[in-house]
Amino acid sequence: MTRVILCCSGKGGVGKTTLSANLAVALAELGQDVIVVDGNLGTPDLGMHLGLTFAPNTIHDVIKRRKRLQSAIYPHPLGFRVIPGSLKFRDVLDVDFDALPEVTLNLLGRADFIIVDCSAGLGPNTLAGIRAADEVLLVTNPNLPAVTEALKTLKLINAEGKKVLGVVLNRVGKEGDLKKEQVEELLEAPVVAEIPEDVNVPRSIAVRKPVVAYRPRARAALEIRDLAYELCGEKPPERKGFWVSLVERLLRLFGR
Ligand code: ADP
Ligand code: MG
Repeated sequence: MTRVILCCSGKGGVGKTTLSANLAVALAELGQDVIVVDGNLGTPDLGMHLGLTFAPNTIHDVIKRRKRLQSAIYPHPLGFRVIPGSLKFRDVLDVDFDALPEVTLNLLGRADFIIVDCSAGLGPNTLAGIRAADEVLLVTNPNLPAVTEALKTLKLINAEGKKVLGVVLNRVGKEGDLKKEQVEELLEAPVVAEIPEDVNVPRSIAVRKPVVAYRPRARAALEIRDLAYELCGEKPPERKGFWVSLVERLLRLFGR
């Protein structure tokens, strides 16, 4: 059965595209068949996060009925498939958001997971994204303005009757931020991942390779991988502390 999971948020710039791109990599590593879709039809940039250099057909072409869906699905070297958005000004200017659910509907049965990267806020793009999915990951940064906006989006998700898989806290670890328990109390939803603030994320975006593949041992990568295990219903492997794994690696190096 295909699971359609939306990554959405209240505030913009909290890490939806980073999560979508990296979940695609991590789920593919776990042997899942994944299609990641740029459902942020107004400001699409998933292709950039993924280093997709040649993609003449986009979700915008499909929605505008200029191209067939199949022709906008590209294989990615990291083992999943991508439907990118258009970078052309005209394409994003007059796009029918309401056509997004039809796109995911037509993808059912073609993969194990359809990950949809979405827009922020409560506008028509977000509403269409929610309608296009069965399950939702609500991404937020752990600060009061972001969580307040997340609460509004959560109300929209609930009003549409969609299943909230949980809240993904991204960029965790900054001074003065809310704690996991505080976010859970405010949103009345479980926090399913806490992705730390990690300089490897902007570095990975700069080289257009998701951090899970760019720096597999980076703390942000490990946390996203754990979430991928959980989405597959598997227990993430236990993480060893830095010193324990260093000693183990040294012992291996010396043949012990
Ligand atoms: P959204 O899709 O919600 O607008 P992005 O995924 O594009 O957000 O992330 C916005 C920016 O935040 C990225 O360009 C990146 O530099 C930064 N960022 C995201 N996650 C992290 C993280 N865990 N650590 C450090 N920087 C991050
Ligand atoms: Mg984005």
